[in-house]
Amino acid sequence: MHESHIIKPINKGVVHRICAGQVILDLSSAVKELVENSLDAGATSIEIALKDYGEEWFQVIDNGCGISPNNFKVLALKHHTSKLADFPDLQSLTTFGFRGEALSSLCALGNLTVETKTKNESVATHLTFDHSGLLVAERKTARQIGTTVTVKKLFSNLPVRSKEFSRNIRKEYGKLVSLLNAYALIAKGVRFVCTNTTGKNVKSVVLKTQGNGSLKDNIITVFGMNTLNCLEPVALCISDSCKVDGFLSKPGQGSGRNLGDRQYFFVNGRPVDMPKVCKLVNELYKGANSRQYPIAILNFTVPPRAYDVNVTPDKRKIFFSEESSLLQALREGFQQIYSPNNACYSVNKVE
Ligand code: ADP
Ligand code: MG
Repeated sequence: MHESHIIKPINKGVVHRICAGQVILDLSSAVKELVENSLDAGATSIEIALKDYGEEWFQVIDNGCGISPNNFKVLALKHHTSKLADFPDLQSLTTFGFRGEALSSLCALGNLTVETKTKNESVATHLTFDHSGLLVAERKTARQIGTTVTVKKLFSNLPVRSKEFSRNIRKEYGKLVSLLNAYALIAKGVRFVCTNTTGKNVKSVVLKTQGNGSLKDNIITVFGMNTLNCLEPVALCISDSCKVDGFLSKPGQGSGRNLGDRQYFFVNGRPVDMPKVCKLVNELYKGANSRQYPIAILNFTVPPRAYDVNVTPDKRKIFFSEESSLLQALREGFQQIYSPNNACYSVNKVE
């Protein structure tokens, strides 16, 4: 039999580190949070710089609205946000962030510094935070309007995660590039650049887009014209308030790679995991082409009240209130594209 032990509260710093490890799972979830903050700040240019594939440090540089000096002290405190004030607001959110957890979690798991300037300041400020999210140093610096967030030595104080991170660094990096592709595809009018600098100071450009105004143009920049030519535009009305649009591989012109490769799903422009939709698309495509997987880039436009994104800490999972009817409508719509009898492979276009 086990001995009975005294129940006592866990030290606050330890709780912080435990919870932070659930919000920031890996390199891509860390960078994702920073990119989403930049998008929420209205940036039209977002640069992601990695040192040694992010293992040494990574940085997200934006030209967004910047952070006002009134917010410096509370910026990286847990559950401090400028985006959500009350619980009902969750139903009408249009921002990526709302829980005020990312910066505080990054503080707990690495060394966080921020440089920022709003249009109201004549000079920028450089801020240093400790592991509990407290502002510990502040100095003036030179910078245009916007924000740069730098994270050094992510996971250095989570030994197991840190080892995994080093061991899987190339895989992590691949996942990150795929995630950045997702934002570069869906964000309209936002320029993305991602660079990686290796030990010997060799800098390579991983991703570079111009910030085009349409998904189609973004596909051309991210994947090239040849890929676009293999895709069929999709525009389906699922219901009065729900529609899906994007691109799917034409039958016989799939990517031929692995399942999930170049398959991107978005809800109101937020990249998410949609395993059931993903399964459906692959299953239907198989009927038309059993040798390859389709490229899928699909955005669901739904009212904010019709889904819940507050399901997992990384906000990749979605609960739909009408999921089964949505899947049924999709099945019917996609069947038209992948039906062997359909010569033109077109679907009902949304007017
Ligand atoms: P959340 O995004 O959920 O609010 P975060 O921890 O990611 O929480 O960010 C905390 C706050 O810091 C945000 O609400 C926002 O006010 C500010 N912030 C973070 N990053 C930026 C940025 N790049 N530009 C402007 N403000 C930012
Ligand atoms: Mg955020």
